[in-house]
Amino acid sequence: MATPVIGILPRRARPFFARHPWVFAGSVARLDGEVKAGDEVRVVSAEGKFIARGLINPGMNLLIRLYRWVDEPLDREFWKASLKSALELRRQFCHLDQPGTAQRLVSSEADGISGLTVDRYGDWLVVLFTSHALWLNRKILLDLLMELFPVRGMLVRFDASQAGREGIATPPEEFCGLAPAGPIEILENGLRFEVDLQAGQKTGYFLDQRSNRLSAARYAANRSALDLFCYTGGFSLNLATHGKASQVLGVDSSAAAIERATRNAQMNQLQNVEFQAADVFRTLESLRGTDRRFGIIICDPPKFARNQRDIDSALNGYVRLNRAAIDLLEPGGILVTCSCSGTIDRASFQAVLGEVATLSERSIQILESLGHPPDHPVAVSCPETEYLKCLIARVG
Ligand code: SAH
Repeated sequence: MATPVIGILPRRARPFFARHPWVFAGSVARLDGEVKAGDEVRVVSAEGKFIARGLINPGMNLLIRLYRWVDEPLDREFWKASLKSALELRRQFCHLDQPGTAQRLVSSEADGISGLTVDRYGDWLVVLFTSHALWLNRKILLDLLMELFPVRGMLVRFDASQAGREGIATPPEEFCGLAPAGPIEILENGLRFEVDLQAGQKTGYFLDQRSNRLSAARYAANRSALDLFCYTGGFSLNLATHGKASQVLGVDSSAAAIERATRNAQMNQLQNVEFQAADVFRTLESLRGTDRRFGIIICDPPKFARNQRDIDSALNGYVRLNRAAIDLLEPGGILVTCSCSGTIDRASFQAVLGEVATLSERSIQILESLGHPPDHPVAVSCPETEYLKCLIARVG
């Protein structure tokens, strides 16, 4: 049977020729042939010129994700080449061979496989699908992963926060191979962390901040530190150990994360790190009423903007949060502030600090403007893949 053809509206095809992988329903003019979720389609311009092949999820706003810009099928050989290319990058440049290594092996759009994230935690993989259409084609991808990167076990998850937007109820998680008996221990910058693959957020741990944690630590010597949205203590432990911070307070609203963070601090014999399960906004408010101030503050909130419509309110949210945070910073203190919203670009996030400087009447100097490490690459054809912005700034 011929592969169904999807026509793009006049003058709307440019981003797709430029290899942006997301075709929203509003760009589509016509559909020739019957399609169901997960089907392969050929996408053509209004003039009938071939653009790319992708997988369709009918009825959804993000209608098609594009994968192949030559007019050949999305078959086993194609997926194999795509996965091999992703693994090759990590083998060459990201030191895959050490025990306890934790890193991203496949980074969705950034590796040309929109909707598939694979994180490696030692001998285990967590495979996270964010695309329903790709999820329906998962067997071939999982078989290939096991063939190309044999591990003891692989946990396959569908991103719960994405499920509604992809039009499905969250399917159950499944293990291929062995299931680990409990949390997995990984090493990050020489520190031991336990990761709960099943109950942890996202794939269990936030690997993308690995190098930023070390960068932030360089500013922490003899300073008291506040780690906002600390999750399982990634920044806190790096600041205490590598940064020689005098003391660290980590805050997160998830009780499970705080429990894990406390264990992680104990596993690394750290006595000067304390964690609190609390809402960050309330904590900032109550600390303001005390005379407790900090020499360095980390601010790493969850994503504020999911799409273009959220941008303005997200920017306001970042201004309010950072404004409240710097009220607790000593003069000359260091603010390490992050945004993981892909739809907010670096310039806009930097402008947030401009606004905060004005409102607080304090000078702010950016010392470093950081992103993510090479196992989380940026695809230039998809600017949203530069999602993580981490600014290290001195506040006067
Ligand atoms: N800094 C962490 C990652 C943070 S992810 C690291 O380095 O690993 C965002 C975190 O914010 C999650 O752990 C989530 O539980 C927490 N969170 C979300 N809303 C919150 C709130 N209002 N107050 C405190 N924590 C919150």
